[in-house]
Amino acid sequence: PKGSAAIEVAQLTKLYKTIRAVDDVSFRIARGSITGLLGGNGAGKTTTIAMIMGLVLPTSGRIRVLDCAIPEESARVLGRMNFESPYVDMPMRLTVRQNLTIFGKLYAVKNLPARIAQLADDLDLGEFLDRPNGKLSAGQKTRVALAKALINHPELLLLDEPTASLDPDTADWVRQHLQDYRKENGATILLASHNMLEVERLCDRVIIMKRGRIEDDDSPDKIMARYNRATLEEVFL
Ligand code: ATP
Repeated sequence: PKGSAAIEVAQLTKLYKTIRAVDDVSFRIARGSITGLLGGNGAGKTTTIAMIMGLVLPTSGRIRVLDCAIPEESARVLGRMNFESPYVDMPMRLTVRQNLTIFGKLYAVKNLPARIAQLADDLDLGEFLDRPNGKLSAGQKTRVALAKALINHPELLLLDEPTASLDPDTADWVRQHLQDYRKENGATILLASHNMLEVERLCDRVIIMKRGRIEDDDSPDKIMARYNRATLEEVFL
């Protein structure tokens, strides 16, 4: 239904033995918004995103994504979302086109050759579409990663550190492309980040996590005004 949230989590908790990786976290993410989950190492960002994807099961709490309960109704929504993380590697010996074909088939994308051609156009992959992934520059790999994340035209995109370790120009390009994608498709984006600057430039809203809990939740402007450099570093302890 219109007006419902893209993501709703309530009292979400994940225990690894005695570690409270995620501890009683609740939030709603509006459709068409870009939200940053900001926090330091071990804050629980990746675990939260993995639970929303249905890849990690919560110890307790509820998750709804695009009006479906996760993980019970994951089969109904998985094709409508996508995920990008530095931990998802592509086989180096396969070409960009072969890699994108694998991910496209994974998501049962219809008219896959046409979708790949479209992405090649949008993301300027044309000249290296038939080059092995291992022979690409870092900037080219970034474009391919984005193509993979968008292959199924997701309504919801989850990203783990999308611009970490990119040079400033490539990072700008990624942010711009994500904003354009959101604008043109009304898509919802949730990303994990260590970097306030990344979040400030890209997001409508920032949720700060610390030791598994939500520490703050506001617009980037208000967060920037509330925390000076020292207190923001404190958040990352
Ligand atoms: P980073 O920015 O370093 O990725 P994060 O905010 O994404 O940090 P998580 O990766 O979600 O944090 O980790 C939260 C806590 O849960 C950490 O203490 C981590 O060591 C622990 N943890 C995460 N995954 C596992 C696992 N599979 N088994 C045991 N402990 C885990």
